[in-house]
Amino acid sequence: MEKTAQTEIHRETAQIPPVNILLADDSPEILLTIQSLLEKEKLARVLSFPSATESWEWLNERGNAMPLLVPDLIILDLNMPGLSGLEACRILKSDPRFKDIPVIIVTASPDIKNLEEAFSAGASDFIFKPIHHIELLTRVRSALLLKSETDARKARERELLAVKAELELANQELADQASRDGLTGLANRRQFDKRLYEEWHRARREFQPLGLLMLDIDHFKRYNDTYGHLIGDHCLQQVARALKGTISRATDLAARYGGEEFGIILPNTPLKGTMVVGQRILSHIRMMGMPHQGISATAILTVSIGAASIIPSVSGKQDQLIKAADTALYHAKNSGRNMLVSADQVPQS
Ligand code: GH3
Ligand code: MG
Ligand code: MG
Repeated sequence: MEKTAQTEIHRETAQIPPVNILLADDSPEILLTIQSLLEKEKLARVLSFPSATESWEWLNERGNAMPLLVPDLIILDLNMPGLSGLEACRILKSDPRFKDIPVIIVTASPDIKNLEEAFSAGASDFIFKPIHHIELLTRVRSALLLKSETDARKARERELLAVKAELELANQELADQASRDGLTGLANRRQFDKRLYEEWHRARREFQPLGLLMLDIDHFKRYNDTYGHLIGDHCLQQVARALKGTISRATDLAARYGGEEFGIILPNTPLKGTMVVGQRILSHIRMMGMPHQGISATAILTVSIGAASIIPSVSGKQDQLIKAADTALYHAKNSGRNMLVSADQVPQS
């Protein structure tokens, strides 16, 4: 199809509101009538095309700009060679870039069937030829008003969504902070208790063993007394890093239980596996070789660990697991520290 030059009327743009109306009609007289009326009333800048096909090509090209350079209103003649007004309307309404632009259909035929088809294609209004000036202006004004209200509502919705996303992020950060220990970055006692409760109940349902290691730094009071509290804090961070680096499964959880004591929850882990992890931690911390001159000139920092693993019974509680691991830890301390003791090595009370 031969491309006719598009007429874009530039008037004193400062006086014309920054809205654009795209107009397509194969009748040059109608184009001129509508265009000059709207511009005379300073309602908009009008971009006019002699066919829907050409107006669609123009739109399609600009519709990918950011922000979208799309008009506020489209006026289409019903019958045109190439794309008809109805077909163009359907295409526009099915395209997310243009679906919110109101479309007014212009026709000489007052057939009710046309009206029905136009509305079902997504047109928001109808204008009959010959064009009555007042009717045209009124319909265009109300379509532009509706569009600006819709735009404002959408902008508010976008703002609200952005605020909501920010709030969700802030909440997530708060929740994350509330579950972490500030000094070591490990899970805190609150998170430890919550996870132990959850894992205990899961293990009970699935009849699986739940492993737990309780770890306490040896002679840490003397460490603080020797090096000062700040270096003591740094030592706690080193031990926490060693724990993080040693546990391997995504479901394992290392937590600061309190002071210089740590708890490591090991879901689906029998006592043998719990001991393997405990041994790895014990060796890892020994290998770090952190001097502990509070004990002797050549001493290094060590830890004592108690290990337990239980398949929860219906009547049991997670405290049972803590008590078992704690008793084993107590035994390790009493047996000379720097060792791993399992709950089954401790005489049951
Ligand atoms: P044991 O081998 O029997 O465990 O002896 P210990 O000295 O480690 O145990 P005790 O319970 O007597 O002392 C624990 C010390 O841990 C006391 C306290 O100064 C230190 N501690 C607890 N929390 C922190 C902390 O957040 N930072 C530092 N630097 N020290 C802490
Ligand atoms: Mg200690
Ligand atoms: Mg302690």
